[in-house]
Amino acid sequence: MKINLPFKGVMDIKTLLALRFLIIVASLLFIYSIAVYQFSSYFRQKEFYDRLKEKALSTAKLLLEDKFDSEILKIIDRESFNAIISEKVTIYNDEDQPIYSSDEFYIPASKELLSKIRRSKELEYKVDSLEYVGLDFRYKNQDYVVLSSAYDKYGISKLSNLELILGIGFVGSLILVGISGFIFSRQALVPIADVVRQVDNITVLNLNNKVDEGNGRDEIAQLAITFNKMLKRLEDSFKMQRSFVSHASHEFRTPLTSMKGQIEVHLSQKRTIGEYEDVLHSQLEEINKMIKLSNGLLELAQANADISSMNQKPVRIDEVLYEIRDEILHRTPEFKIDIRFLEFPEEEEKLSVMGVDQLLKSCFKNIIDNGCKYSKNHTVIVTVDFTSQYLEIIVADNGIGISWEDQRQILQPFYRANNSRSIPGHGIGLALAAKIAELHKGRVFVDSELDKGTKVIVYLPFMPVPNDVNAVKGFA
Ligand code: ADP
Repeated sequence: MKINLPFKGVMDIKTLLALRFLIIVASLLFIYSIAVYQFSSYFRQKEFYDRLKEKALSTAKLLLEDKFDSEILKIIDRESFNAIISEKVTIYNDEDQPIYSSDEFYIPASKELLSKIRRSKELEYKVDSLEYVGLDFRYKNQDYVVLSSAYDKYGISKLSNLELILGIGFVGSLILVGISGFIFSRQALVPIADVVRQVDNITVLNLNNKVDEGNGRDEIAQLAITFNKMLKRLEDSFKMQRSFVSHASHEFRTPLTSMKGQIEVHLSQKRTIGEYEDVLHSQLEEINKMIKLSNGLLELAQANADISSMNQKPVRIDEVLYEIRDEILHRTPEFKIDIRFLEFPEEEEKLSVMGVDQLLKSCFKNIIDNGCKYSKNHTVIVTVDFTSQYLEIIVADNGIGISWEDQRQILQPFYRANNSRSIPGHGIGLALAAKIAELHKGRVFVDSELDKGTKVIVYLPFMPVPNDVNAVKGFA
């Protein structure tokens, strides 16, 4: 089970499945980890800015509203602020002068920054690792700006821990998913490997062996069932081929044996010239029959080929029928062939079939010949009619007929009905006619009654008449 992937060389299905599974899980995990990290980072920042805001507000209130002495407030601030994270608050008055700072260094602020804070009432910003909040604070018609800053040491450290956990989790999960995916895909493909092994053991000598169909429901079972059906078709076709070859050799052996016997008898003693001539005539007759048989076999082989590889063209069926009538009557003048059209179509296309004219001629020649051959009055009536999509050609005679049982097999090569044994033939003509009709997407039907007569009906799709696009889509 190898798959050729462009640019990737050769990779087996289980590796490919495991790899695809891994890529899907890796993408999902990656997206998930990024989302977790981004949300955590957002909430950390939000919480930290809220804390800075609280600090800024409480310092401003204590200094301005509660009138705390700035030196005492500094002491309180220093006590409550966390030096490790460099917490600091600075208050600017409406002249942009710093009036208070929680330690000896003011938080620097340009005039633009202060006026921006006054305009937006509240501003959050970050410079290097320090985060800042600026608030516009109004008290007794005075406009103050309170700046609060700090470095979120714990939050940042938690975030980098999270980054590490997510990274390790990502890589670890990928390793586990890769291993389990490979095991899983190998197990999933075991039944296929099993089918392959069984199929490998089937050769032309044991086509009757079957592949195990398992539970008969899942995809593997469907594969096995389909394969078994194909085996059955192959077996049937091999059987048909074998019986075809044995029939064909039998058909040749019989006249050859009789020719050999005749020659041996005539060679056993001296004969007159007239007797030798008789033998040669009868031998010639047999040879002609064998040539006819081998031509028939050749045509049958041809009719089994793919029609698309043959030279197809529109063939007028009325012309074919008249040509065949002339040919047959020229060869056997006592035959009578009456061709009738139930209605003559206005469109020429309705009389034309897309196909191979030699094959179509052979099809009708065999059927019409049979009609004449198997009836005492040697007469057939050929009627041409139409259905919505098909030309219908009925070749009817009042001859010996075909029994109901024989009708079911009469289209098989070499099959001859018992009542026709006294009349020469090889049993190829009708099979050939049916094959040729099938090749042209048509059908042959036989409707017959013993001792009453036979109708052989040929359906052939006529060429689509322009602007009748629905015509001719194959035999329903
Ligand atoms: P062949 O005529 O050379 O034996 P075909 O394949 O043409 O071979 O016909 C097969 C058999 O079908 C014939 O042997 C005959 O038994 C039967 N058959 C065909 N056409 C007719 C017919 N029109 N009337 C009676 N039997 C027929």
